Amino acid sequence: MIRLYNTATRRKEDFVPQHKDNVTMYCCGPTVYNFAHIGNLRTYIFEDLLSRTLRLEYPLTHVMNVTDVGHLVSDADDGEDKMEVGAAREGKSAWDIAKFYEQKFWQDYDALHCTRPTIISRATEHISPMIELVKTLEEKGYTYRTSDGIYYDTSKFAHYDALVGHAHISGLQGGARVEMSDEKRNPTDFALWKFSPKDKKRQMEWDSPWGVGFPGWHIECSAMAMKYLGNTLDIHCGGIDHVTIHHTNEIAQSEAATGQKYVNYWIHGEFLILRSGKMSKSGGTFVTVDVLKEKGYEPLAYRYLCLGAHYRTQLEFSYESMDSAAKSLKNLRALTAQIGQESAHTAKETENSRAWKTKFIQAMQDDLNAPKALAVTWEAVRCGDLSAAEKWDFLQTAESILSLDLLKEEQSVRPSLPADVLALLEERVAARQAKDWKKSDELRDAILQKGYIVKDTPQGQQTEKK
Ligand code: AMP
Ligand code: ZN
Repeated sequence: MIRLYNTATRRKEDFVPQHKDNVTMYCCGPTVYNFAHIGNLRTYIFEDLLSRTLRLEYPLTHVMNVTDVGHLVSDADDGEDKMEVGAAREGKSAWDIAKFYEQKFWQDYDALHCTRPTIISRATEHISPMIELVKTLEEKGYTYRTSDGIYYDTSKFAHYDALVGHAHISGLQGGARVEMSDEKRNPTDFALWKFSPKDKKRQMEWDSPWGVGFPGWHIECSAMAMKYLGNTLDIHCGGIDHVTIHHTNEIAQSEAATGQKYVNYWIHGEFLILRSGKMSKSGGTFVTVDVLKEKGYEPLAYRYLCLGAHYRTQLEFSYESMDSAAKSLKNLRALTAQIGQESAHTAKETENSRAWKTKFIQAMQDDLNAPKALAVTWEAVRCGDLSAAEKWDFLQTAESILSLDLLKEEQSVRPSLPADVLALLEERVAARQAKDWKKSDELRDAILQKGYIVKDTPQGQQTEKK
C-alpha cells in the first residue's frame, strides 16, 4: 500500500486511486523563459520518484504542462509576462525563447534521469480549452470584467482557503502578499484572461469572446489537467510555493466549473535553499545543471544528493554536500560493479533477496522515503548474508527507482574479467550457496590458475589480478 502526505488533509493517507488500471497525475511544469535551476529540478526529481513508485503498482498517466505564455512576473496579475521579459532580455522572439528553454529543460530533465511524462502539454497549444473553461465560469457567475481582463471572484467560491488553511488566506486579506488593484473586488481575485495592452503589441496573443489577449497562468493548468485527465485527478504535484496561490486558484476555477472535486491527493515538494536564502531566477542566484557540469559534477550526483533528503524537508545546497554526494555515488557504483562481475550480471531471486527488495519498496511506499531506501541499498550491497546474484537481483529493483546508473558503470569502474573467469566465479557463488566448500576451494584454485585471486569478504567475492 502506498501512503502519501496529502497537503489538503495535512495527513499521510493510504493512496487509493479512482481506477487501478489508470492512475492520473498532473505536475506543474516549467515556465520556459530561462534555464531551470537545480531547485526547480529538485521538484521534478521528487515527482520522478513518485512516478516510479506508482508505476511499480499501477499504469500511470502523467501529464506535465509547459508554461510558454501567461506566467506574470508578479502574483498580483499586473506584472509583465515572463516570456516577453525573456524575449526582451535576449533580443529574440517570445516563441524562440520558449522553444530554446523548453529544449534545454528536457535536456536537464533527462540528464537527471527523470522519467518523461506521458503527455507534455504546451499552454500555447491549448488556448481554446482555456477559453472554454473561462466561458463556463462566466456562465456560472464567477467572473467579472476590469479594464485589463476577466477576473475570478474568489468570494463566490465557498472553500477558497481549503488547501492553505483559513489562517493564511485571512492574512492575505490583510493585504500583505498581493497588492490589490483598484478594480479587483478581493485581494485574492486573479486574472483568467488578460487583455493585450493598448500601448504595446504583444508577441503572443489570441482572439477571445472578451477581446484580444492571453490566458492567466492558473487557468492553463486547470484546463490542460482536466482535458487530459478528467474532472477529478488522483494526484497533483508541484513545489511548496504553489500551495498558497497557484494551486488554490486551480481548485477554485476547476471545482466552480465542474461542481466536482478537482484533486484527491495534493503532493508538494519542499524547496532547495541556499545558505544565503532562496534560489531564485529573478534574484540571479541560481545554479543550473550546466554550472554543475562545468564544475566537474555529473548530473546524477545531484540526483543522489536529492535522494538523500526527504522531499518534504528543505534541502540546503552547498558544494561540500555535492562533493560528498559525488563521492558516495562513486563508492556505491564501485560496489555494484564488483557485484555485477561476481554475479556475472545474473540475478537470482530468493526469499532473502525478496525480503531486501520489500524493505526497499516499503520505504518508497511510505511517503517516498528515499533516504531510507538509499540506506537499505547500502546495507544490502554490504550484507554478508546475500550472494552476489541475490544482490544483483536486489539492485534491479533499487535501480528501477534510484536510477543512478548503478548497473552499467562497471566497465568504466573496473576492467572486465575474462569470460572464463566470470563463469568460474559464478560457479563458485553457486557452490558456496550450496555450502559445498570443497568445490568452492577447487574453484578458487582454478581461478588462481587463470591469474586472479579471489577473496571472500562480507560484501561477497572480490577478485584482483595475481
Ligand atoms: P517554474 O518554472 O518557476 O514555474 O517552477 C517549476 C517548479 O519548480 C514548480 O513546481 C516550483 O514550485 C518549483 N520550484 C521553484 N523554486 C524551487 C526551489 N528553490 N526548490 C524546489 N522547487 C522549486
Ligand atoms: Zn500549474
